[in-house]
Amino acid sequence: MEIPGWTLRPTRALRIAGKQGAFSRLSNVFSTLMMAGFAVELRTVVHQQNWNLLPDLADYIATRLPFVEVWAIMQLENIGYGRMNWAHSFKDTSTDFSQLGRSVNLALGRGIPTLLYNFPLCSLPAHYRHLAPPTISDWKNKFLDECISCGLRSACGGFFEWYKPSLGFRGLLPAETKIGVGYRAKTMTMRNQGDIRHEVNDLLADTEAE
Ligand code: SF4
Repeated sequence: MEIPGWTLRPTRALRIAGKQGAFSRLSNVFSTLMMAGFAVELRTVVHQQNWNLLPDLADYIATRLPFVEVWAIMQLENIGYGRMNWAHSFKDTSTDFSQLGRSVNLALGRGIPTLLYNFPLCSLPAHYRHLAPPTISDWKNKFLDECISCGLRSACGGFFEWYKPSLGFRGLLPAETKIGVGYRAKTMTMRNQGDIRHEVNDLLADTEAE
């Protein structure tokens, strides 16, 4: 089961959404999932508003949610609300990887399997690229002219079809050496727990509606 991590708003993060009660409800969701034995993939989209909160979130996950199967930290997609708020929300992690790097280090160091979704490999420091599987589906990804001779292409998910280079990454570093991507999210295993799934989805819907 996938939980949209941006609804996890302990303490200061409540300022982003201002949804009182959302955090306690989501905590209940996690308790239910854990007791039911679900494999949980927690997803967090990086944006300017949560940039400085990421290390705290990593600490929270490592402390309170050690059972998560994967913490997937995702780049913003330039479509829908992401497009509407792009100028205020997109965080160029190719020029500033600081908080993201701290968060990944903290989570991995404390045993949380952590992956980076939707990051072109050349947008990442070399020693974090093995954490970034090609997560953009074939039908909605694209490659740029710079990708033609890139040695990382076979392991890279490229860009979203609607990515605009003029508004996107400023620090891409296409590479000529190949790497292996030896770390993939494990396929989530879910038992037949339909009733619990409905209960959790109801709780999540309540959380989002607040
Ligand atoms: S230049 Fe290489 S690493 Fe960068 S997006 Fe293109 S294929 Fe991926």
